[in-house]
Amino acid sequence: MGIEILYVFWFASIIMVGGYIVWIKKTSCKQSIVNERKVCEERIKFDSDIIYKLAFEDELTGLYNRRKFLIEGNDLLQSSHLAHQYALLSINIDKFTFIRSIYGYHTGNEILIKTAQIIQELTAKNGICGRRDDAGFAILFQIQEVGDISLLYESLAARISKIKIKENINYGLQILVGAAIYPTHGSRMSELYENVKFVEDQMRKNGNKTFQIFDNELKETILRQQVIAMELQEAIKNKEFILNYQPKIDTLSQKIVGMEALIRWKHPKKGFISPNEFIPIAEQAGLITEIGKWGLMEACLQNKAWQDKGYEKYIVSVNISAIEFYQEDMLDSIKETLKTSGLEAQYLEIELTESMTIIDKKQTIAKMKAIRALGVKIALDDFGTGYSSLSYLKVLPIDVLKLDQSFIVEIERDHVSKCITLSIIDLSRLLNIETVAEGVETKEQAELLSAMGCNMIQGYYYSKPIEADLFEERYMKIV
Ligand code: C2E
Ligand code: MG
Ligand code: MG
Repeated sequence: MGIEILYVFWFASIIMVGGYIVWIKKTSCKQSIVNERKVCEERIKFDSDIIYKLAFEDELTGLYNRRKFLIEGNDLLQSSHLAHQYALLSINIDKFTFIRSIYGYHTGNEILIKTAQIIQELTAKNGICGRRDDAGFAILFQIQEVGDISLLYESLAARISKIKIKENINYGLQILVGAAIYPTHGSRMSELYENVKFVEDQMRKNGNKTFQIFDNELKETILRQQVIAMELQEAIKNKEFILNYQPKIDTLSQKIVGMEALIRWKHPKKGFISPNEFIPIAEQAGLITEIGKWGLMEACLQNKAWQDKGYEKYIVSVNISAIEFYQEDMLDSIKETLKTSGLEAQYLEIELTESMTIIDKKQTIAKMKAIRALGVKIALDDFGTGYSSLSYLKVLPIDVLKLDQSFIVEIERDHVSKCITLSIIDLSRLLNIETVAEGVETKEQAELLSAMGCNMIQGYYYSKPIEADLFEERYMKIV
């Protein structure tokens, strides 16, 4: 219990501790005025120290609080008059709430204090730092080049990961750091903060990065994606999707043997939007299942309608994204679609991409086998991109292998690519897997692939993907 109130009158000073008067000192009039001023000055200093601390300092770590950091930051930026570059960094201790709930508040606070010390040490020479919120800190520091930011990030990450409170416990602390650069990404702290916040949100959402520097282009892309995600919901309601079909030509007979259904979004204002752009957004926004179910049903209905008109029967291939494939009701959904459309299973082929098959090999193989047990064929799409491995061909239950366009482009000019393609085609034949070359654009490519023993060709050389009516007119023949 300390001194609480110090009263000073012209005749005496009264000092109180804990509400009790403990000392009364008589003073002469002249002396009392001197004392009064001195005490007032001390009191003012004492009060203003407290007010300063309360207003501008973080109580736990002693760093600037958010408000003071902003003020100091703006001052620093203004005084630099665009002559220097600064980086604003936000530093968050990842999963801090979780760590604190396990090790307790005291340990949590110790971690924050040690983190603050590390941040302060590393930025003392050429920057300022502050605490933003619970486990969030910020740094504004002068840089010579962008690389300085990653160097600082690395030092911070390394030192914070080694924080120890109790000797034998390693907390495995990780930090998430977002950065924006003055003046490129903003001329005031508020602008820089906003951009850093944007980067932080992205990192949290994607969960695959612990350090990222803001990028104007990235922001534009993401804003566009957000608009598309919103518009996609309308597109589903307003039925703005259509399917185009691209023929697959048999290299021996030179006749059509099937067609791939490729989705198109007919946006009322922006025109056609490529699936390469909207499918990944639909996946992220949780809309792909609905769109995929529509696509599967539409392709089956169309194929059945053509068959019912008496045309030769072909296999329709439908692309399925990883998210759809791993849905629990995936198999039921295929069964249901075949039943509703009346299409026989042998006239449907599902295209899966190679990359998704490695997510969970055991589960994937089981699911693929179940699909094939229905009589539906499975094609492995885009082979040759990503983690291509010939060993997959042996373990994955597939009927068709689609060689990616990147392979096809290479075979004409690169001898090694040609040899690799030839080996893949040979191996596939041995394993009873048919091969389709995707993205074939020239006569030379078509002839070369045909000579290599590739079974089917798909590409602009024969036809671009076209609308159902045109496809019917061009390729459907009465038997
Ligand atoms: P994909 O399944 O590999 O389809 C082949 C892509 O190559 C198509 O692009 C097709 O238009 C294009 N293509 C075909 N021949 C040529 C050629 O000779 N040259 C060039 N440069 N390109 C050619 P598209 O239609 O833009 O589709 C892109 C991707 O979007 C597809 O790649 C597929 O992964 C995905 N996709 C398309 N429709 C659907 C769908 O209904 N559902 C899902 N989940 N994905 C789809
Ligand atoms: Mg495909
Ligand atoms: Mg492909």
